Amino acid sequence: MAADNIDTFIPPQRILMGPGPSNIHPRVLKAMSEPVIGYMDPIFVQMMAELKELIRYVYQTDNMLSYPVSGPGSVGMENCFVNLVQPGDKVVVCRNGVFGGRMIENVLRCGATPVILEGVWGEPIDLNALEDLLKKTPEARVVAFVHGETSTGVVSDAKTIAEIAHRYDCLTIVDAVTSLAGVPVLAKEWDLDAVYSAGQKCLSCTPGLAPSTFNQRVIDFVTGRKDKIQSWFMDMTMILEYWGKTVRTYHHTAPINALYALHEALLMLKEEGLENVWARHRSNYEALRDGLEAMGLEFLVKEEYRLPQISTVKVPEGVSEPQLRAELLKMSSLEIGAGLGPLAGKVWRFGLMGQTSRPDYVLTCLASMEKILPTLGYPVKPGVAVAAAHKRYAAQHAAAAEKALA
Ligand SMILES: *Cc1c(COP(=O)(O)O)cnc(C)c1O
Repeated sequence: MAADNIDTFIPPQRILMGPGPSNIHPRVLKAMSEPVIGYMDPIFVQMMAELKELIRYVYQTDNMLSYPVSGPGSVGMENCFVNLVQPGDKVVVCRNGVFGGRMIENVLRCGATPVILEGVWGEPIDLNALEDLLKKTPEARVVAFVHGETSTGVVSDAKTIAEIAHRYDCLTIVDAVTSLAGVPVLAKEWDLDAVYSAGQKCLSCTPGLAPSTFNQRVIDFVTGRKDKIQSWFMDMTMILEYWGKTVRTYHHTAPINALYALHEALLMLKEEGLENVWARHRSNYEALRDGLEAMGLEFLVKEEYRLPQISTVKVPEGVSEPQLRAELLKMSSLEIGAGLGPLAGKVWRFGLMGQTSRPDYVLTCLASMEKILPTLGYPVKPGVAVAAAHKRYAAQHAAAAEKALA
C-alpha cells in the first residue's frame, strides 16, 4: 500500500461487549483531547495528586503508593513481579486460567522458581489446596493470584487467599485487572499487598494504563532490597521519587492525556459511587443471564463464582463459534469475546464492563442473538431472550421501589 493513499483513520462505533476494552464515555474522550501540558507543570502535578486520591478510592485504601503504571495491565503485572521477586525466590502462583499462566512466565523471567497451584478452568482458587501447598513450601515468599479470571469469568476469594498467604509469611501479588470496579476489591480491609489493574476493563478508560496500589510491606521490601531491580523502567525505588513524593524528579514522560482520561473516568466512578457501580454491574448481568438462559444457553461457571462483568457461555453443539461473533459485529456493530486456551472454540464471553454495563446494550445483544442463532442451526423462539431480560429488569425495579417505601 502506497503511503500517499492513506487518509485519516476513522474507527466505527462499536458496542464493546468483550473482555475489554469497554466503551469509553464521551466525557473521558473529551478529557483526552484537552491540551497537553508539561509533566512538571504545577497544574499537572496537582492533577496527579487528585488522581492518586481517586485510585485510593477505587481500591478502598489509604496506601501512599497508589499510582497508574504507564503501560497496559501486562506491565502492571510485570511491575509487581520485578519489584517483589528476587532471583532464586520461590513464588506460589495460583493458575485457574490464562492470566495465572502469564504470572508463571513472569516468575521464571525474574530468575525465580514458580510453585504452581494448579486449579480448574472455570472454578475459583482452592483455598485448602493453597494452604497445603504453603505448608509444604516454607521457603515461599510471595503468593500471586488473579482475583477475577477474565478467561473464564470466575472470581476467587481474595480476602481469604491474602489471609492464608500472610499466615505463611508471604506477600501477595493480586491481579485486579478485570475485578476492579465490577466487584468489590477492598485493598485495605483484605490487606492486599501489591495490586494492579488496567484502564480498559471496568474503569472504562483508555488501554495503556495500569492503576496500582502498594502497601507499606511492599515499600519496605523493595527499599530494603540489596540487589538491583532488573528493570530500569519499573524499578519502584525510582518511581517512589516520581509518584510518591511531593518534590518530583524526572523519571519518564507520563502519558499525560491518557492520565487526564483516567482522572475523568475515576471521577465519574466516584460521582456514581462505587457501591452503585457494583450494583449496576450485577443488575445488567442478571438481565443478560436470564436472556441467555431463556435461549437455552448454559454458563461455564457456577452462579456463586461468576463475575458479573464477564459471562462465559458454552457454544451449543453444532453451532459455529466464530460465526456468531462475526454476525453480531455485522448486524449490530457489537463485539463479544472468544474463548482462550483450552476454551477456544468452546465458549463465548460476554463482557459488561464499566460504561458497557447498560440495559440497552444487554437488550441489543439478546435481540441480535435471537435473530442470528436460528440462522446458525440453533432454533430460538422469537422474543424469549428479550422478554426474560425485561422481566428481570422489572423485578429489580419493583424490588427497589419496595425498598424505597420500607
Ligand atoms: C486484560 C487482562 C490483563 C492484561 O491487561 P492488558 O491491558 O491487556 O495488558 C491481565 N490480567 C487480566 C485478568 C486481564 O483480564
